[in-house]
Amino acid sequence: MPEGHTIHRLAARHAELFAGDKLLATSPQGRFAEGAARLSGAVLDCTEAYGKHLLHHYSPGLTLHVHLGLYGKFTDGSGEPPPPVGQVRLRLTSDRHWLDLRGPTACELLDPPEVQALRDRLGPDPLRDDADPARAYARISRSPTPLGALLLDQSVVAGTGLIFVTEALFRAGLPPTLPGRKLTPTAWRNLWADLVDLMGVAVTVGRIDTVRPAHLPEAMGRAPRVDRHGGEVYVYRRPDAPCHVCGTTILRGDLAGRNFYWCPSCQPV
Ligand SMILES: [Zn+2]
Repeated sequence: MPEGHTIHRLAARHAELFAGDKLLATSPQGRFAEGAARLSGAVLDCTEAYGKHLLHHYSPGLTLHVHLGLYGKFTDGSGEPPPPVGQVRLRLTSDRHWLDLRGPTACELLDPPEVQALRDRLGPDPLRDDADPARAYARISRSPTPLGALLLDQSVVAGTGLIFVTEALFRAGLPPTLPGRKLTPTAWRNLWADLVDLMGVAVTVGRIDTVRPAHLPEAMGRAPRVDRHGGEVYVYRRPDAPCHVCGTTILRGDLAGRNFYWCPSCQPV
């Protein structure tokens, strides 16, 4: 599933394509036909990302909410749109550009109270200027739940997925199994600041790189990572491989129904 940086990039991209334009909306697949009919002819005022949720705000007071989930995907282009291929849930077109959405978990129209309800159920998003990390710490510091699971819970922190969480915990030297209530205020402050940095870089470059300069392939004389996800990481999907910092074998284990990865030496319990 795309992590928050991807959604923030899409929000910026869609604003670049369409902000200020009156759009034509259709649902070639038919599953969003009613919503597309309501949306068609509206002007896109602005876009925003909140965690893994993408919002398009239209005049007057209409918001398109998209959650890509595991399979959702946007494609876009200039000029005349191509004939729809596959299950296109939503197609937006202006005089200059087009945008197709396929396979999302959510594609719906929200009114302002529903937008507020969505915001209310999400924790602070490290990529947003209005994020309040104290809200997340209030949850974490009272919970016996493992920190790794808390950080994946979108009602605690929004936008973080398994890559950012496993990597930030490695960089902090914290085991994913640490009970939330054992996280000190200072450790939380540092962890939050690191998430803000890592996710901010990912928005800029479009992939997740978490490795410090000393552990880059060139610096270590090792081969670059080959993985669908792309970036250079310390532990994510590196089970049985040696830790870039200490050489200890990276472990994999189940936490909150997800595969977690950590170095038992760098992240001691
Ligand atoms: Zn290590």
